[in-house]
Amino acid sequence: MSNVFDACVVGSGIAGLSAASLLAKEGLKVLVLEQNWIPGGCTSSYPRKGFVFETGATTLVGLERNMPPGYLFNKLNIEIDAVKLSLPMQVHLSNGKTISRYESLDKWINEAELKFGAKNQAKFWKFCFDVANFVWDTSLKQKSFPPDSFSDLFDCAKNANLKQLQYARYALKSMKTLLAEYGLLENRTFVNFCNEQLLITSQNSIEETNVLFGATALCYTNFPNYYVNGGLINLVNPIVDYIEQNNGEISLRTGVTQIEKKADNYVLHTKDNSIKCKFLVSSIPINNTLQLIDFPTRSQFNSSNILQSDKLNSAFQMGIAFKDDNQLDAIHHQIHLEKPLVEICSKSIFLSLSHPNDNSRYKEAGYKVASISTHVHDPENNIIENKEAVESEIINQLEKIGFLDKQNIAYMHSSTPKAWHKWTQRAFGFVGGYPQYMKTKPWQMLSARLDGDKAYICGDTTYPGQGIPGAVLSGIIAYEKLKKDHL
Ligand SMILES: Cc1cc2nc3c(=O)[nH]c(=O)nc-3n(C[C@H](O)[C@H](O)[C@H](O)COP(=O)(O)OP(=O)(O)OC[C@H]3O[C@@H](n4cnc5c(N)ncnc54)[C@H](O)[C@@H]3O)c2cc1C
Repeated sequence: MSNVFDACVVGSGIAGLSAASLLAKEGLKVLVLEQNWIPGGCTSSYPRKGFVFETGATTLVGLERNMPPGYLFNKLNIEIDAVKLSLPMQVHLSNGKTISRYESLDKWINEAELKFGAKNQAKFWKFCFDVANFVWDTSLKQKSFPPDSFSDLFDCAKNANLKQLQYARYALKSMKTLLAEYGLLENRTFVNFCNEQLLITSQNSIEETNVLFGATALCYTNFPNYYVNGGLINLVNPIVDYIEQNNGEISLRTGVTQIEKKADNYVLHTKDNSIKCKFLVSSIPINNTLQLIDFPTRSQFNSSNILQSDKLNSAFQMGIAFKDDNQLDAIHHQIHLEKPLVEICSKSIFLSLSHPNDNSRYKEAGYKVASISTHVHDPENNIIENKEAVESEIINQLEKIGFLDKQNIAYMHSSTPKAWHKWTQRAFGFVGGYPQYMKTKPWQMLSARLDGDKAYICGDTTYPGQGIPGAVLSGIIAYEKLKKDHL
């Protein structure tokens, strides 16, 4: 491996790979350094005991060209082997009702009226869907957002329209206020539903999620949802191939331990090597980035904007392979619990199954591979002492709803925040990005320019935060800002 590159990207998560591939397309010689043995970070898959498990993410939206992943794949001319889900998700309430989250807005409104009562559901969902469409449409039109230079401000103003100015006010309003305006706050079943659905998207509740993000998050299932055959590693591998075919390199098992800034380059130290580059993109969380660098950052990255464990979440996750030939209506299920889960105290679990037509994730027909996850708040202080008790309660819940029969489990394993720390090195083992908080408006979220010079940052702790589409967009924005500043 050469020791001099145009650009080094720390971390091969979906954000880092997005930025790296666009820089490689620009003709730069790019090196991606990844501490793990496989690329993808929280968006990846790994083989174990003849089955293929997902590391973290399981649901996927955004393969359309006006959404960040679709935009990226179109730019790179990459086709993803994915199928559109006919029913994106089902939610199983603790009162025994099952709610089908249909993609079609009309069908979904019928279902919501049936399950939550007709009062104002249609009006509420039409409003949310309008906001969601606006947010997705705007996200790629404003690639200098959040602005942190005069030229960004100029670009934002150039691309602004009346609707953007009108809708900016929804960043100041919480989802709780919106529910109150629609007279839905007294509908406890609906409020619980919204809170648990927001937790898997905005990582927070109706009180802390603004309407721009919250309405978009609640309408996640009203946009095409996809399943990537073979697991989400097949979303990542084509980007890795693209980088390698375009003069770039991915160096696995290469953790960066320190980054120095010299007069005209950055020097990245690993256990065995020192690598020089002109441009640096850190795609690991800002908490981790600050521990690696020896140079001052822009004032935006001061300690008050860096969230600590008490404001973050990790996950307890299980991978279960089991024999089963039950045909289900959906592969993604959120299950609301009657009482909080032992030790963790979360009130819902999320179950994703391998697609029935994808037989590449198990050794013989008749198996399913399940990923199950639940939130662990404040992972530094929420130590899971008895992981077997949590595993057994989750399995009991799944049995109760009829998803599996314990007798048929061929293999299972689970991971706690400690395992997440080991897998991704993310501070406290937190995952899922920085949660939404009302005090942080979209334009105050962490931006891509790290030191105001040639170092940039992307990933799910920077704008716009959560999920695969958000992380991809953060990579696109880091590339755009770097290009505008220097190329
Ligand atoms: C359980 C779970 C379920 C989720 N479900 C969904 C979902 O269904 N849909 C969805 O869209 N999103 C989901 N997400 C969120 C989504 O997976 C993440 O937001 C996204 O993958 C984050 O990507 P990233 O590139 O920002 O960070 P990461 O994926 O964390 O990537 C960072 C990479 O950097 C590497 N690294 C760290 N430190 C160093 C170092 N010092 N040197 C070199 N490499 C380093 C890590 O190993 C890692 O590969 C889920 C996340 C989890 C954990």
